[in-house]
Amino acid sequence: MQFIDLKKQYIQLKAEIDESIQSVLNTSNFIMGQEVKTLEAKLAEYVGTKYCVTCGNGTDALFLALKAYDIKPGDAVFVPTFTFYATSEAISACGATPIFIDVCKDTFNISHEDLEKAIINIIEENKLKPKAVIAVDLFGLPYNHRDVSGIASKYNLLLIEDGAQGFGGSIDGKRACSFGDISTTSFFPAKPLGCYGDGGAVFTNEERVKMYLESLRVHGKGIDNYDNVRVGMNSRLDTLQAAILLIKLKAFQEYELKARNEIADIYSDNLRDFVRGPYIPKGYTSSYAQYSILFDSEEQRNRVQLVLKELEIPTMIYYRKSMHQQTVYRNNASIYRGFPNAESISKTILSLPMHPYLENEEIGKICSIIKENL
Ligand SMILES: *Cc1c(COP(=O)(O)O)cnc(C)c1O
Repeated sequence: MQFIDLKKQYIQLKAEIDESIQSVLNTSNFIMGQEVKTLEAKLAEYVGTKYCVTCGNGTDALFLALKAYDIKPGDAVFVPTFTFYATSEAISACGATPIFIDVCKDTFNISHEDLEKAIINIIEENKLKPKAVIAVDLFGLPYNHRDVSGIASKYNLLLIEDGAQGFGGSIDGKRACSFGDISTTSFFPAKPLGCYGDGGAVFTNEERVKMYLESLRVHGKGIDNYDNVRVGMNSRLDTLQAAILLIKLKAFQEYELKARNEIADIYSDNLRDFVRGPYIPKGYTSSYAQYSILFDSEEQRNRVQLVLKELEIPTMIYYRKSMHQQTVYRNNASIYRGFPNAESISKTILSLPMHPYLENEEIGKICSIIKENL
């Protein structure tokens, strides 16, 4: 069994994907070909923003978003401690300081209460300028947009949504990657919408920001690629990846997202009385980048994971270490704040195999093993 079965997906979509790749080979327009522009239009339409600017990966997408709003040394950027390193790495790469925030016990997403405490703290200390919040849609569930955006406006902070895992999720019918002043996603193969290598995108409603991003991703270009007006970077989505994503986006919209949710429901129906499954607030939908459960104790989690492993069922622990526990942040100004929820989740969480091609029989087997070994 695979944790995420990309091969099964490829076999399902092979004819269309092969044809799409071949057509790029035929035109040989490998950089910024027509497929990139077509994909950007389709992604913006799906998400519900005016513009989408694709780029090299989800980490660059965050870096570009921060750069577009001139985040720099001396700035404080608030970020949940329970996330993938790239979220805070992008802040550090801009020279700004990530300020870590605890997450909610139930959603695993940023706690707006802890966020406000940390903002007040930074204002009182008067060393760093509070500038932005990056809220993460962890495991596919959109973050609590209403409360977090309320706080961001109250303290006049830029709100960035890291939708690397959230693409496809929604709140009251509005799609993830539209819940920030600027939002980002990743097309890393294991994400809900993945390509066959690295890829990413930034979403915005502002034309000025879109133009700026288009310049930044091509060496700070001005009127053309050989007119350089600012320090940018080289971060474009390959035409080949765009061609693959065009096919995969169609499958995602037509049935994959639905299949992910059906699989999550089967897991939940089976496991409800035994372990704590994902909590999806009313009006929210998840794209289930991960299906994660919580055990009663670390010992129980580790034991069940080992049994599953012995039976060749792969599982993952996302995330064993939060940002405040990472060596790279041993001197960070905010690591002493205390993050009880993140630390407790790390010890008891386990992510189960999750992809749209998982079969009922496989889910049944996984659930039985878990139940029999608690
Ligand atoms: C994967 C991921 C990223 C980075 O995306 P890449 O395309 O791998 O650079 C950023 N944030 C989160 C939450 C992620 O899961």
